[in-house]
Amino acid sequence: MSETIFGKILAGEIPSEFIYEDEHCVAINDINPQAPVHVLVIPRKAIPRLVDAADDDRDLLGHLMLAAGKVAEQLGVADAFRLIVNNGEGAGQTVFHLHLHILAGRGFSEGQMAGFR
Ligand code: AMP
Repeated sequence: MSETIFGKILAGEIPSEFIYEDEHCVAINDINPQAPVHVLVIPRKAIPRLVDAADDDRDLLGHLMLAAGKVAEQLGVADAFRLIVNNGEGAGQTVFHLHLHILAGRGFSEGQMAGFR
């Protein structure tokens, strides 16, 4: 559980403020925000990449999407946010514990659809 930075945060080994938490996931502010609102929704279960999720994780994956919506509501950005999952190093994934990025608070133009960095 604690081999990635998110595993350590979830285990309480690294202090971090959970802006949302439930039985299956937590949400924290990204340490290096790429938008005025940049939150990470992190499952308590350590799945390295989205592609490593199994059929058994179907409910958890759905739960993460619903949690992201709740967090967006909580932060007042439910009408305009983007949800991103970086899968694999080539796609910019740096922490190999699945997480959803919620980005909001700035304009999203068509040309930015492919990424946010
Ligand atoms: P990714 O590149 O999709 O793997 O996203 C990892 C994200 O985790 C990056 O946006 C980092 O800024 C963020 N991050 C890394 N360490 C921490 C930390 N200790 N607390 C909050 N966010 C972090």
